[in-house]
Amino acid sequence: MTTSPNADPAFLDPAGHDPAPLDPALLDAADPLAPFVDRFVPAEGVVAYLDGNSLGRPLKATADRFADFVAHEWGTRLIRSWDERWMDLPTEIGDRIGSLSLGAAPGQTVVGDSTTVLLYKAIRAALELGLREGRREILLDDDQFPTDRFVIDGIARERGATVRWIAVDKTLGVTPELLAEALSPDTAVVVINHVSYRSGFIADLPELTRLTHEAGARVVFDLCHSAGVVPMSLDDAGADIAVGCTYKFLNGGPGAPAFLYARRDLHDALEQPIQGWMGAADVFAMAPAYVPAPSIRRFLSGTPPIVGMLALIDMLDLIEEAGLDRIRAKSLELTDYAFALADERLAPLGVTTATPRERRIRGSHLTLAHPAFREILPRLWSAGVVPDFRNPDALRLGLSPLSTTFAEVELGVEAIAEALRDRVDA
Ligand SMILES: *Cc1c(COP(=O)(O)O)cnc(C)c1O
Repeated sequence: MTTSPNADPAFLDPAGHDPAPLDPALLDAADPLAPFVDRFVPAEGVVAYLDGNSLGRPLKATADRFADFVAHEWGTRLIRSWDERWMDLPTEIGDRIGSLSLGAAPGQTVVGDSTTVLLYKAIRAALELGLREGRREILLDDDQFPTDRFVIDGIARERGATVRWIAVDKTLGVTPELLAEALSPDTAVVVINHVSYRSGFIADLPELTRLTHEAGARVVFDLCHSAGVVPMSLDDAGADIAVGCTYKFLNGGPGAPAFLYARRDLHDALEQPIQGWMGAADVFAMAPAYVPAPSIRRFLSGTPPIVGMLALIDMLDLIEEAGLDRIRAKSLELTDYAFALADERLAPLGVTTATPRERRIRGSHLTLAHPAFREILPRLWSAGVVPDFRNPDALRLGLSPLSTTFAEVELGVEAIAEALRDRVDA
C-alpha cells in the first residue's frame, strides 16, 4: 500500500509548456478526488478552509452516526454496549488506522488518550528499556512541537535522564546526517516528528530508524502531521513506537483520542507508566496486583473515550474508499499549486516559503513567512479565509486532499496577497 512519494508527474504542466496553468477551475475539473468534497458538512461563510492540518472538517455521515449512537448504542443498548462493541473499539479502530495509513499489521495499534499523554507513555516506556541497559539520554530536535519537548523535559527530570538537542534548519527537520552525529552509546530514545509541524519536511523514517537501531537505541515517531495523508510503512521500517493525532488529517473532531503503535515483538518488554485496569491482562478480574495485558492493550489506562472515536470511523471509511496513494497524489498537486501561486503572487510582496520544494520530502502543508502575517490574520479569518498562524511570522496553508479544492487554494492565496497589498497602500 505504500508508494514512494517521489514520482514527479508534471501535474501543473503536463505537456511541458509554460507558463503553468493557474486556473483553479481546470484543476478541480481534472481532479479525480473532487467528488469527495461534497461528503463534508458545508461551512457557511468559509470561502477557503486552509487548516485541515490542525482540525479536519466533519463529514455529513458523522451527524447521522452521532444521532444513531445516542438513540441506539448508548440510549438503548446502554451498559451492554461495552460487551457488544465498545471494549474492542480501541484496537478495532487502531487496526484500521494501522492498515490504511501506517503500514502496520493488526494487533499493534491502539486508540487511547490525547497525543500528549500517549507520547508520555511511549517515551517513558522506551526510556525504561534504555535505562536498564545503562543508557540515559533522550535525543530530540530543537524545533519539535512544544508538547513533545515539554513531555520529554518532564520525563527527563522524573527519571534522571538527560536531554540532547539536535539543532535543525527550520525549513527542514532532522536529516540522517544530523542524527548520526548526535547518536552515542548513551542514547536511550530518539523522538522525531515524522512531518515537521512548522516546515512540513518529511523525515526519512526508515533511515532514521535504521541509524537509531544501529546505535542500540529506540525511536519514537510523532505522526501527527502525516497520519492519513503521507504513506509510510512502520512494519517495513522496523519502527519501534509511534504516536499520532486523529483530529488533523484523520478528521476525528476536536479532542478526538490519539493512537499509539508499538512493534509487536516489543510488547512484552514495554512498561508504560500509567497502569490502569483497562490495560490489565484481565480487566474484570479485580485482582490485587496489576498484570499488563500481553498485547497492545497494555497501553490503555482507564475507560476508553468511545464518543471521541466515532467521527474517526467515517473518515477511515472515506480514506479506504479514496485510497491513501491517491490522497498523497492530490496532496502533492495541491501543495505544488500553492507553491506556484505563492511564487507568482506573494513572492513579489516579500513573502518567503519555508517548506521543501522537493516533493519527496514535502508533507501536506505549505508554510509562508512574512512579518505582517500576525497583523492580517484577523482580516483573513473574518473574510472566511482560514489558514493558521504560527509564531513568529508563519502562515500555514494546510491542504487536506479529500476536502480541499484548488479553487480554495487560489482564493486563499489571493486574499493573502490582497491583505498585504492593502497594508502597503494604506
Ligand atoms: C497537533 C500535535 C500534537 C498535539 O497534541 P495533543 O495532545 O493532541 O494536543 C502533538 N504533536 C504534534 C507534532 C502535533 O502536530
